Formats: sequence, structure tokens, C-alpha cells
Amino acid sequence: MAYKDELFDLWSETFMNLKQSCSEHEKDMWLSLIAYHSGDDNRIILNLPSQFHIDQIIKRYGNQIEEILLSLAGKPILVEYRTAKGETPPVSKKPEKDEKNQNIQNMPTDFPSSLNIKNKEKHPQLREDYNFDDFVVGENNSFAANAALAISKNPGTNYNPFLIYGGVGLGKTHLMQAIGNSIYQNFENTSVIYAPTETFINEFTYAIRTKTTQQFKNKYRNVDVLLLDDIHYLEDKTGTQEELFHTFNALYDANKQMVFTCDRPVTELKNIVPRLKSRFARGLNVDLQPPNFETRLAILNQKLDQKNAHIPLDVVEFIAQNITTNIRDMEAALLKVTAYAELVGKDVTVEIAQQQLKQIISIPLPGRLTISLIQKVVAGYFNFTPNDLKGRKRTKAISFPRQISMYIIRELTDYSTTEIGLEFGGRDHTTVMHSVQKIEDQLKTDSTLEPIIQKLINEIQEQAHE
Ligand code: ADP
Ligand code: MG
Repeated sequence: MAYKDELFDLWSETFMNLKQSCSEHEKDMWLSLIAYHSGDDNRIILNLPSQFHIDQIIKRYGNQIEEILLSLAGKPILVEYRTAKGETPPVSKKPEKDEKNQNIQNMPTDFPSSLNIKNKEKHPQLREDYNFDDFVVGENNSFAANAALAISKNPGTNYNPFLIYGGVGLGKTHLMQAIGNSIYQNFENTSVIYAPTETFINEFTYAIRTKTTQQFKNKYRNVDVLLLDDIHYLEDKTGTQEELFHTFNALYDANKQMVFTCDRPVTELKNIVPRLKSRFARGLNVDLQPPNFETRLAILNQKLDQKNAHIPLDVVEFIAQNITTNIRDMEAALLKVTAYAELVGKDVTVEIAQQQLKQIISIPLPGRLTISLIQKVVAGYFNFTPNDLKGRKRTKAISFPRQISMYIIRELTDYSTTEIGLEFGGRDHTTVMHSVQKIEDQLKTDSTLEPIIQKLINEIQEQAHE
């Protein structure tokens, strides 16, 4: 990194020491976010993504960092932290009264902060706020985020193509555009195209109609970085698939970076020509999972920081506890609550938030076909509880109803196998695929199974419409 200086080594050693005493989870969740900024004399400046992270790091590791620094340097080292945006003056925070020990923090060891970014014009198709600094890293996305970061530093080399998959609102587009923004800002003369797959399809159809396919090819086959969002829209679009196959080969052979996103694992895409599918699966495929409570809290705080908005901590926690599906829903909830506060000009309370978010929070109505309803009915039929289905036990007695539940969920709903796996105690999507396959096979040979499944489906549908 360009900004190495004499205190960098001291910090590196401190950081290594700190890491040794932390769990993997803590490393992903917190330590991976600390970035060294600079140092001089007896002072180290560290960057963190937001004020929230600074507070958390001080609370969790402040004393420990001071102690390690003191023991390594043999004298007190002042630690200042700032948010990675670099806009706030470094504020020294003292964890306790002791003056010398201001603290530390920080993180994203390698997260490119805005410091690295040259002030190029904004990229026409990319949102500026979809950048790495504003992407909160938690255990649900740290692998994807780190891979994205690695790619943005060395495009077209190791992970090509890079494919991010996962449910709606989990940050696929954000991460993809962060790669685009970072490369666009940090590499001279590098062209980046971002296109939602629908746009790619429409442009191609238009090119055929107007006999301008050559222009289309020129555009997409000569780019340095191609970001194609939501490739599941290619299902059934054979003509566009064919074109993309050739685009892919041209870019791949020229070592140009490709990034794709998809709402499910590539293996679950239907009606995509196998040779294109196998190309998507090349390179690196990573998934994004829903964030846990701590990460949800960090994301909400980051969004508040970004907007310079303030709502009481208990209200933020209330939202983090109740909106668990995805980040887009969390943002919608936050917007609703902050808009209300602004409108009526008073502080939000948990009661007000509850009132305002009534509709959003009660989304899993009993009248809807939800995974939990299906689990409840199937478990009940076999004299188990839904928790048994989610548990780790693998006796035949419990495996069978578990497989049936997964099969019925696939039959009746649009949940992906990744999402289903999560609702069964965090099982892998391949386990779900396997279970569904088992039931499909058994249905072919065992004629007693079909009526049981039909009965369960009737019962589920009845309850869903009650
Ligand atoms: P997807 O493409 O997976 O449907 P998006 O990338 O559009 O999801 O993300 C939905 C919203 O959630 C965006 O506003 C995005 O900025 C925000 N978001 C998602 N993940 C994170 C994260 N880890 N940190 C901060 N914001 C996030
Ligand atoms: Mg998206």
C-alpha cells in the first residue's frame, strides 16, 4: 500500500497479536474492517467504515490494542480513528479516562478507502454509493466481499468469471458495482460496462431488428470489465444466450474480467444452454447469505451515518430484530421511521416504530404459503416439531419428513434451495437438492407416497388460505 510508513510495521504486529486472541467470527465481523491509515511519531491513525464501527471496536478491543501497542513499542502510542470516508477530522476517543490511550480501531485492512480513489468523473451506469467503503462486512458476506476486493485489485486474473448468487436484497448489485467503481476509479483507461441482464437482452434484440449486431458486438466484446446483473433473466432466451456465449469467450480469451450475479446457484438455472452454464460455473461462484443480528445492526447504523440521520439505539435494535429477510427491507423500514420522525418533528420511540412498521413486520401472515407453515404441517403429521426438522439429527425417522418438507416447499413456492437450506438450520443448498431428488425418485417407485404428499399439500393450502 502506498501509505506505508514507520508505524505501519508496529501496527501490523499489533494487529497480528490481536488476531491471535480472536475467534474466526470476530476476525470476519470486526477485525477485517480495520484499515491502517497512517502514523507519525507516537500516533497511529486507523480507518473504519463508520462511526458505529469505531465505537464497537473501541468497546470490544480498545484496551487490548493499547496494551499490545504499549508492550511492543515500550511507550504509549496514541490511536486515532476516523471513518474511512476521510471527511471527518480524526476524533480521538478515549476508551477510559487514561489520556494516553486513545484508541484504535480499524480495519478493513484492505478495503480500499476513498483515499485511493482518484477523482475521475462518475461512471455513467454505476451508483457512487455502491462502493466498498459503504459495504458492511459480516460473516454472511465476508467471503464474497473479500473476493470482490481481490478482483478489483487484479481484474481479469485469478477469479474469472466471478459470480455472486443469493436471494433478493442481499447486496449482489452493490458488491458488483463496488468492483466496477473501484476498477474504474483506480485503473487508467479501463472501460467498465454495467448492464442489468434485461438491458443486455433488449439491446441484443434491438440490434437484430435494426441489423446493428456489429455495433453490439463491438460494444460488449471490447470492454475491459463486464458486469452483467441478474443472469437468471437469461432463462429461455436462447438467442441472447448464444450471443453471450461468444461474448464470454472473447472476453475470457483476452483476460478481461467478467462479473455476474444470479438469484440462485448456477446449477439451478433452467433452460440455459449447457455450454454457457458451464462457463458461468467456471472461475469463482460465491453466495451471499442473509445477515445475522449483529451485521444487521451494523448495516442500519452505516445507513444512518450515510444519511446523517439519528434514531435512538433501541429503535435501531427493534428494526434489526424484526426485519430479518434482507437488507432492502431493512432500508425501507429505516426510511419509513426516519421520514416519520422528520415529518412530525419528534423523536421516534419503539412504540412509534412498531406502529409505523406494522405492515412490514407482519409480512409472514398466516394466510401465506411460507416455509414455516409447510414445516409446521409436515412436522405435525409425522409427530415432530418444526425444530426437529431444523435440527441436526439424521435418523431415518426425522430425515424423511425433512425431505418431504423440502420437496413440498420446492413444489409450492419459489424459494431457492439456498433459502430453503437456511430455514432448515443452515443446511447447504446441495443437501436440499439431494433431498428433493430423493423424494422425486421415491415417488416413481413407491405408490403409497403420492397420496401422503397430496394430503399434506391440501392441508397446507387450506391453512394458507384460512
Ligand atoms: P440484490 O442485488 O442482492 O438484490 P442490492 O445490492 O440491490 O441487493 O442491495 C439492496 C440494498 O441493500 C442496497 O441499498 C444496498 O446498498 C444494501 N446493502 C446490501 N448489502 C449491504 C451491506 N453489506 N452493507 C451495506 N449495505 C448493503
Ligand atoms: Mg440486484
